[in-house]
Amino acid sequence: MTITFLGTGTSQGIPVISCECRVCSSTNPKDKRLRASVMVEVDHKVFVVDSGPDFRQQMLRENVKRLDALIFTHGHKDHTAGMDDIRAFNFTMKKAVDIYATVQVQETIQREFSYIFSGLDYPGIPQLKFYTIDKNPFVIDGVKIIPIEVMHYKLPVLGFRFGDFTYITDANFIADEEKEKIIGSKVLVLNALRREEHISHFTLDEAMAMAKELKAEKTYFTHISHQMGLHDEVNKELPASIELAYDGLKIQL
Ligand SMILES: [Zn+2]
Ligand SMILES: [Zn+2]
Repeated sequence: MTITFLGTGTSQGIPVISCECRVCSSTNPKDKRLRASVMVEVDHKVFVVDSGPDFRQQMLRENVKRLDALIFTHGHKDHTAGMDDIRAFNFTMKKAVDIYATVQVQETIQREFSYIFSGLDYPGIPQLKFYTIDKNPFVIDGVKIIPIEVMHYKLPVLGFRFGDFTYITDANFIADEEKEKIIGSKVLVLNALRREEHISHFTLDEAMAMAKELKAEKTYFTHISHQMGLHDEVNKELPASIELAYDGLKIQL
């Protein structure tokens, strides 16, 4: 299994438009963060989790040639806005793209991309096929995926476990029975927004405490704000088992 961090930034990305802070002005490529997304390649299948506003750029950067499923964590714009660009895969793979999402996320997609569902089959609109998921495990082409329901303030969000890899974004609470599904993962991804408190995201300290509790061999943080600080400086403060992720980081499992 190969995991690629397509984007590790919070909703505005880094640099933030018009911001002159030291993170947004940094020349270190690790301080440039597109909106959060991850690609999981397993058994020659390519799965992408979320298609935020930077989806096109992420597919081009990683030279992605096929997309076997697009799996959504939740319906917020920074995770869905780029979905129109799945059209490229409609052309190259000559089929609809399989979309795995909860009923709630499907409703959001139908509202935000209403032209796809208008019934006027305008040539060139994205072709997609919905598969409904919930908290229960599901299988895509023989690959088992375990959803983990986490809370993003009041909104339920799904994380996903693929074998020894678990990806959680946009959480500030994980119930005990959902933690059980994560335990045993070798590599865990958690969101860590910044140091200061936030209503719907783990802070750096909260994410570190959660990482310690969930005991993965390695935990990476994602969905990072420019308020977190410089990548290299923050990383130096973290224990060996925890690192900030960065765009383009690849892990073999
Ligand atoms: Zn900034
Ligand atoms: Zn988000």
